[in-house]
Amino acid sequence: MPAAGVDRSPCNRPPPGPLRSGGRCLSDLGVLFPHLANVVLERVERAGDRVRLLVRSRAVRGACPGCATVSGRVHDRYRRRLVDTALVGARVVVDLLVRRFRCSSADCEAVTFAEQVDGLTSPHARYTPLAGQAVEAIGLALAGRAGARLDARLGLDVGRDTLLRGVRA
Ligand SMILES: [Zn+2]
Repeated sequence: MPAAGVDRSPCNRPPPGPLRSGGRCLSDLGVLFPHLANVVLERVERAGDRVRLLVRSRAVRGACPGCATVSGRVHDRYRRRLVDTALVGARVVVDLLVRRFRCSSADCEAVTFAEQVDGLTSPHARYTPLAGQAVEAIGLALAGRAGARLDARLGLDVGRDTLLRGVRA
């Protein structure tokens, strides 16, 4: 989203935490992880077979989905968790810091809006695009318990009911 601008300054800041990522922007890793190309990796945490990637958007501002007005007025922040595909045998969760912006257009019905990260999020999605595609493919091939078992084996936290919903959608 070029109109929203990109924050490049904090990419080299060393982050706190048990596992240091070096604070690198993932733009260099975008070849391997294209869905993370528009976020800054702030920290990596690993506990057993689970990895949590704490990230935030690289965009300085967000565009209102209702009227397309670009805003940098932050109303609120919250964390959003997205299940990602497994990596090096570990279950991966992308823990995204989401900003809710105030729309600056007086004519817009949306008073505030949550930012979306290109290539990573869509409204209400619980999975990264790649994980969502895997869940959908497994659901179509193996709905029910068999699909849920395969998802778990592949590091995707998906219940049987979720699989069935995906197939019915
Ligand atoms: Zn708006």
